[in-house]
Amino acid sequence: MITNHAPGLTEAFGTAFGRAPECVWRAPGRVNLIGEHTDYNDGLVLPFALLQGVSVAAARRDDGVVEVRSLQAPTAVTAPVDGGPVVAEGWPPDRGWAAYPVGMARVLREHGTGGASLLVDSDLPQGAGLSSSAALECATALALCHLYGVEIGRADLARLAQRAENEQVGMPCGLMDQAASLLSVPHHALLLDCRSGLWSPIPFDPAEAGLAVLVVDTRASHALTGGEYARRRAECEEAASLLGVEALRDVKDLAGALGTLRDPVLRRRVQHVVTENHRVEAAAGLLRAGAAGELGAMLNASHLSLRDQFEVSWPEADTAVDAALRAGARGGRMVGAGFGGSVLVLTPGDRADRVRDAIAAAYDERGWASPEFIETIPAGGGYRVPIGW
Ligand code: ADP
Ligand code: MG
Repeated sequence: MITNHAPGLTEAFGTAFGRAPECVWRAPGRVNLIGEHTDYNDGLVLPFALLQGVSVAAARRDDGVVEVRSLQAPTAVTAPVDGGPVVAEGWPPDRGWAAYPVGMARVLREHGTGGASLLVDSDLPQGAGLSSSAALECATALALCHLYGVEIGRADLARLAQRAENEQVGMPCGLMDQAASLLSVPHHALLLDCRSGLWSPIPFDPAEAGLAVLVVDTRASHALTGGEYARRRAECEEAASLLGVEALRDVKDLAGALGTLRDPVLRRRVQHVVTENHRVEAAAGLLRAGAAGELGAMLNASHLSLRDQFEVSWPEADTAVDAALRAGARGGRMVGAGFGGSVLVLTPGDRADRVRDAIAAAYDERGWASPEFIETIPAGGGYRVPIGW
């Protein structure tokens, strides 16, 4: 098994709860290869699962309570498994993290799971656009289903994990993160149609093509994300309604659409969403043709479109992409909603060190804190880890 799961979680569970866990499950974070801000426009996305993820050690409880602890959070939280949305209970910030696992337990309660003691451990940075939240929900969901012998197909489980984040945590995310965390296949990216919910694994093995994937956590604060994200969504909805289509995915004649819209801001947003959707199809086509090396041009075009048309990039991301290209990378782009988070770089494998050094040097020159580099390969969806690992 290829895993980054850290040993010692079983012992840590024993220390925390005074007994052994019944099972340990792990679910990965994800990075989106291409298809940014297309999900809520009913479009296409092409994420892949990371090696890095969240592990959850679990044991049943028969008192109707979920007790959650995390090696990355200071506060242990105990909450009834029966209950309405966590978000409505107004938990203080130090308990906020527990809304994800407790919310998941509440959603799954309707399907036959119950109380549990859960210990979380993770090697994914939080809030870096690599979907630690979905990894936490999905690992929790897999563990709870296992504990109670509840069988739910992975696609349905992804919907339930999305529901936990939407209704319990109060974050209106799409299906991409949870689908990638549960449905990914090793050495493949996951082509997901956000309208139909249909997905298909597309071969993506960078190492075999002589390439390496670098994920750069730019460590830029993304305080603006919430408001700007909501504004972009509203702009896309407004443009779709002015164009008389259900969603921007349905725009077939880009030139005609741009001619119809008067507002230059809306024109830029439409330009991005429509071309980005085509880039996802083109990228999937290149991968199917075994031409992963040609993806670089798609990544670069995506980055420029996100920077100039959708206007969601940030200086640390632009600098990382620029430095990577100068050092010989094939391509790179910001990933996630924007205004902070991570950058994805595709580089020839033998230039990965040079690219990493160039990005670090560019940050240093500007007096910015060093970015964090995450090396990964397209990994598989959530899996059970043998006890004792
Ligand atoms: P992202 O999904 O991009 O990492 P989010 O803001 O959606 O960013 O989710 C991050 C939140 O998920 C954290 O603020 C925390 O509440 C929760 N979380 C993720 N990983 C852990 C962990 N290992 N322990 C406790 N909470 C976690
Ligand atoms: Mg998240």
